[in-house]
Amino acid sequence: MEDRDGVGAGRAARRDEAVRAAVEQGLLGPDVPIVGLLDVEGIRESAAELRAAFDAVVAAGTPVLHAFAVKATPLVPVLRLLYEEGLGAEVASPGELALARAAGVPPDRTVLDSPAKTPAELREALALGIAVNADNPQELGRIDALMRSADSRSPLGIRVNPQVGGGSIAATSTATATSKFGVALRDEGAREWVVRAYAERPWLTRLHAHTGSQGIPLSLMAQGVGEVYTLAEEINRRLGRRQIDTLDIGGGLPVDFGSDAATPTYAQYARLLDETVPGLFDGRYGLVTEFGRSLLAKHGTVVARVEYAKSAGGRPVAVTHAGVQVATRTVYVPGSWPLRIAAYDAKGRPKEGPHVVQDIAGPACFAGDLLAEGRALPLLEQGDYAAALDTGAYYFAHHYAYNSLARPAIHGFAPDGSGGIGFAVVREAQTAAEIVAEAGGAHARALTTLRAPGRR
Ligand SMILES: *Cc1c(COP(=O)(O)O)cnc(C)c1O
Repeated sequence: MEDRDGVGAGRAARRDEAVRAAVEQGLLGPDVPIVGLLDVEGIRESAAELRAAFDAVVAAGTPVLHAFAVKATPLVPVLRLLYEEGLGAEVASPGELALARAAGVPPDRTVLDSPAKTPAELREALALGIAVNADNPQELGRIDALMRSADSRSPLGIRVNPQVGGGSIAATSTATATSKFGVALRDEGAREWVVRAYAERPWLTRLHAHTGSQGIPLSLMAQGVGEVYTLAEEINRRLGRRQIDTLDIGGGLPVDFGSDAATPTYAQYARLLDETVPGLFDGRYGLVTEFGRSLLAKHGTVVARVEYAKSAGGRPVAVTHAGVQVATRTVYVPGSWPLRIAAYDAKGRPKEGPHVVQDIAGPACFAGDLLAEGRALPLLEQGDYAAALDTGAYYFAHHYAYNSLARPAIHGFAPDGSGGIGFAVVREAQTAAEIVAEAGGAHARALTTLRAPGRR
């Protein structure tokens, strides 16, 4: 048995220590009312668990690249940490590719997937030797043209949508019948088109699918991987050669946002794949994975000061500095993306006391800007702190500029070796000057001086 509870309790204890140390060291306070914290030990643990889970099931010598889905936490120091923990990067835009390169992730550890790659992006990726998964026939046509005019070391593949169905959250279900991603495998003629595409292009050596993210049951993910494996076997058999040598099985392991447990585990998923897709791990195929949320979610915390504590209609409301700008999905779609909230006192100590049903509101000027509604917690008072837990992926690094609220600073934390907590800046807080510059500050008169010819 894996001691998941022990690991979760350890993570919670580290988080409590970090919140207190952040207040003590002034990273959080009246003048810095919101901060993002990242648990460096936790990130290392998750990366190690991922590697160990697949090492335990794949045949010795099988090439395996775990490419972290950069969109989950697009922060250069995080990408660097993961790279040093043996991971690569899965990128889906020129910006994400630039982040991976800035972190020092080499091209042969980088995979480019996106549904809207421009010719310039494809040219750059092929020139660098980055792996590319073509999303559709038109994109494959562009790659054909580039391959005719230049040599490339890039491993190339096609993304397919196995159309195995969606999960409980439509927005993160990528394998529905009408999903926008990849070649829809069950559509009429699609399978034959894919087989022919490989027959005509000896340089197509990979096959890719990403069956979905949060809300998808493990069994459905495994079914999607099974479809990809079966298709690769069919293609290689029909071509009479082992042309497809690598399967990219995507990411998508769901995260438990209701407790400190990191379940399901990578080990459970790897064992399920081993059982349900016999042959996948026997060494004939190299593997690429693209996990995002499950690597980082549990290791990030947004901590925000309670600026005011008030009451409305008999309901206590804590007005904090964390709302839609850092927890966009939760605020707009609270039913699908609930977050746990932890209460801390003004010194950053876990708050005790009877639980009171209250709203935890954000700073933005619209009524729905609530981090949590009707939540039972020790009563939050002015000067206390509310922490949004499990926000290390798809949250604080995905700033939403509503009300021109500043991007908060993000600090990594780890034990300092002498009983305390040490912090390192991952990203500085955005300044008012930066907000002005990004809002056209250099062009203040651009519109007042623009006139149609002949008008005055
Ligand atoms: C978003 C995405 C991932 C990562 O998904 P998670 O649910 O964060 O693990 C992997 N691959 C592709 C192609 C994606 O779009």
